[in-house]
Amino acid sequence: MSPPPIHSSSSPEAVNEACQTFNLSAAELSTLRERAQANKARAYCPYSKFRVGAVLLTQDGTFIDGANVENASYPVGTCAERVAFGRAIVDGHGRKGGFKAVAVATDLTAPGSPCGMCRQFMREFCDLSMPIFMFDKNDNFSVLRLEELLPLSFGPDKLGVPDSAQRQAEQA
Ligand SMILES: [Zn+2]
Repeated sequence: MSPPPIHSSSSPEAVNEACQTFNLSAAELSTLRERAQANKARAYCPYSKFRVGAVLLTQDGTFIDGANVENASYPVGTCAERVAFGRAIVDGHGRKGGFKAVAVATDLTAPGSPCGMCRQFMREFCDLSMPIFMFDKNDNFSVLRLEELLPLSFGPDKLGVPDSAQRQAEQA
């Protein structure tokens, strides 16, 4: 797969196109960007010094923040995305209609994408069509749907548990 295009957040055309494609308001996309960038300052990463900020937008308009949390026993560390999803799920957002978008921000000079473990973690709770916005340190961004980041994915439906879209339909 070739790398996705990189857009400037200061380009009205790029912002409008992303908003229309993913059914977001300009304010929602702006808040996703600002909070993902700001959340980098909340990271606990004394070992890697690699700050990651994340933010989730729920279908009911709530923003949930995350940042990476490392550990002296390195494998115990947790990525920003999974910190945010853990908060969201225990607060009941997985049952209230699910997630509209995810954003992550790094200090890289081209957008960094979620690791494989985080892609699978999102798969449990999100529609495959959900967009994931990836911001670099200069607010340039790429955006891909979950199904593009995790093709041919293994999800709850394979084990007889309705996936997130079905759960939402059943709860409607
Ligand atoms: Zn990760």
